[in-house]
Parts: sequence; structure tokens; C-alpha cells
Amino acid sequence: MLPSRTVIAMKTLACDVLVVGLGPAGSSAARAAAHSGADVLAVDRRQAVGVPVQCAEYVPAQLVGQLGLGREYIVQPIAGMRTFLPDGSQTLTRTPGFTIRRDLLDQTLALAAARAGARLMLSTRAKTMAPDRTVILRGKSGGWFRVQPKVIIGADGPRSKVGRWVGAVNRNLLPGVQATLRLAQPLDCTEVYFDPVLYAGYGWCFPKGELANVGLGMRRDAAHPGSVHALLEDFVDRLRRAGKVVGEPVAHAAGWIPAEPVRQAVYGNMVLAGDAAGHTHPITGAGVFAAVSTGEMAGRWAARAAAAGDPDVLAGYEEEWRDLLADTLDRASRRRALMEERWDDFDRVIPSCWVAYRDYYAPAP
Ligand SMILES: Cc1cc2nc3c(=O)[nH]c(=O)nc-3n(C[C@H](O)[C@H](O)[C@H](O)COP(=O)(O)OP(=O)(O)OC[C@H]3O[C@@H](n4cnc5c(N)ncnc54)[C@H](O)[C@@H]3O)c2cc1C
Repeated sequence: MLPSRTVIAMKTLACDVLVVGLGPAGSSAARAAAHSGADVLAVDRRQAVGVPVQCAEYVPAQLVGQLGLGREYIVQPIAGMRTFLPDGSQTLTRTPGFTIRRDLLDQTLALAAARAGARLMLSTRAKTMAPDRTVILRGKSGGWFRVQPKVIIGADGPRSKVGRWVGAVNRNLLPGVQATLRLAQPLDCTEVYFDPVLYAGYGWCFPKGELANVGLGMRRDAAHPGSVHALLEDFVDRLRRAGKVVGEPVAHAAGWIPAEPVRQAVYGNMVLAGDAAGHTHPITGAGVFAAVSTGEMAGRWAARAAAAGDPDVLAGYEEEWRDLLADTLDRASRRRALMEERWDDFDRVIPSCWVAYRDYYAPAP
């Protein structure tokens, strides 16, 4: 909120496209919009792009090829994913990818946006929006700014403020918690663990060179209360006993994972992308690929709409992101509903609700 009864000196900033958030979605949007000729201002409340990291840091190989921004952020190649069930059985899925330094990826993307001509402002928070869609920003050292862009892109993550302004909030946020530990020996695959105590979620162990990101993401509700941090400690202990990791955590991370049904992403001259739009996969929790892809699309369509002076052009973004993601996200969202409803029937529900199993891809029952 603006301080009441205070006269504030407010500077006006001009731009065609305002991007709120410089995560993968925002930087990709800013880069694409600037590349398409728009005058772009992109802001993030963080002091440094990508810090702190709130991610298990796995990305599919396809993303690295699509970006074409070097390989500095890559830590190790991943051959596939092993899914472990409580009875000890395991399934290997060949899904090539990489574990990465997510802070470096985010910084690489932001640098690419700046190189394309976008103006980046860090330590700058989108605070409010007036009825005429003027956005009020609060910058470093308490400076206030007013900006009335032709298009606003909300790429401000799972608890998006821009989403709130247009009445499109994520209602199904899952907690994700993580500890980073030393690996006992190198792993060439990501590992995923299902267990009845991890309600409608799973534990992960993603190798990153000599380290591993060990975490869990799951549903928490009135019927399934309790501390996810305590469950994480139990999970880490389990992996220590299994001889996968050793010692004490060297880092911790936590964040929210949207698990949303498919919904609209364009609201007049405002669009949402990435986690802000609920583009995260509701079963796996993966969202970097979707954030980069939908951010890039949003930026491209925003530049076209700004050049035409016509927000109706943004309908092209709604169509394009749906073409890429809607079927996948819709299936995952339905599987999530089933998983939550039938979790008590754990042995039967997991094969139809996890991406490693053929049943997951069968027509919905
Ligand atoms: C524990 C955990 C593990 C995960 N692991 C993986 C994984 O291994 N692989 C994967 O693909 N996905 C993973 N995800 C999901 C992935 O991190 C997200 O999908 C991804 O970060 C989405 O990118 P984004 O740009 O949409 O949002 P974000 O990365 O959240 O970026 C949003 C940005 O907006 C800024 N912002 C927010 N509000 C404002 C405001 N009012 N004004 C200005 N700036 C603002 C924030 O500071 C932030 O920089 C994980 C998530 C969690 C929580």
C-alpha cells in the first residue's frame, strides 16, 4: 500500500511493455519483446536475479537446445529418472536432461534480455495498479514510480500480484522444501520416491555433481496436517540410511508450487506467464521449461500488440500457449485430482497418476 496522507514525489517511466518479475518467464518475455522491437521495462523485487534459488534444478535437454545461451549454467547431464515405490520396486524412464545452477540460468536469461535492449530494474517491486491500469512501482531506497505501459506481463511467480490485480490467483499451492547434501557416490539419474506419508506428492533426490538436491513437494490440508520440514528430515535420514547422501545439509530452499487447472492467461492488456499463470506441471511440479516457453510467447505477442496499439492481438498468446501446454496440463490436473481423492488406495492410484507409468497416459477413467 502507498503510505497514506503523504505527498509522494513519483517519477513517471515510459515503456511499451512492462514485465513484472525476472525469473525464467519474465526474462524470456523481456528478451522476446525487446527483440521484437518493443520498448521494454522489466522489474524484479530481488536485489540479485535468481537468488535465492527455490528449485531442484532439473531441466529437460530440449530447453537447453531451445535457449541457445551457452552451457555455463549446466552442472551435469541426466540420463533419466528412477521412480521408487515403497515395496522397493523401481522404474527407469529415459528422459534426458541436465541439472543446472538455477541462479546462473536465471542470470543468463536476464542478461540476454538486457542485451536485446530491455531495461532491467532490480530491487523494484510492483505495488499497486490504478483502475486505468497505471502500475505503481517502489524502487531502491524507497523511490516511487508510475508507469502506464501498453501491455503488462505478470511473470511474478506462484503468488503473483499481477494475477491478483486481474482476479486470477493460484488457489492450489503445494509447499516444496529442500536440503542440499553431499552424495555418497555420483548418480546419473534423477530419483523420485513415492510414500503414503507424502500425501499427493513425492520426494526427490536430484544429483548435481558431488551434491544432491533432496526435497519433497506434497499437498497439505486440514485432513493432512503436520510439518513438511519434519517429513523432509525423515526423508533425508532415509536417504542417508540407504547410502545415497552423507553428512549435514549445506543449503536449504523452500517455495510454492502451483498445481492449477488450465485457465485463461490474457486479461485485456495484461497477460500472465509461467508460475503466475499456473503453467507449472500439477503432477511433477516442473515449471522452468513452461516458464521460458510461455514467457517467450507472451513477450512476442506483447510487442505485436503494442506496435498495433491493440490489446486484442494478445489473443494470439492465449492460443499459442494453449497449443503447447493445455493438453499436458489438463491431463496432469485431472490426475492430481484423482491422486488426492484416492490416495488411501495408494498402490492402485500411483500407476495412473505418475508420469513414469503407461496408465498415466491412458484416457481418463
Ligand atoms: C522446491 C521447488 C523445486 C522445484 N524444482 C524444479 C525443477 O527441478 N525443475 C523445474 O522445471 N521446476 C522446478 N520448480 C518450479 C520452478 O522453480 C518454477 O516453475 C519456475 O521458477 C517458474 O518461473 P517463473 O519465472 O514463472 O517464476 P519465478 O521463478 O518464481 O520468478 C518470479 C520472479 O518475480 C519476482 N516478483 C514477485 N513478485 C514481484 C513483485 N510484486 N514485483 C517485482 N517482482 C516480483 C520474484 O522476485 C521472482 O524473481 C521447483 C519449485 C520449487 C518451489
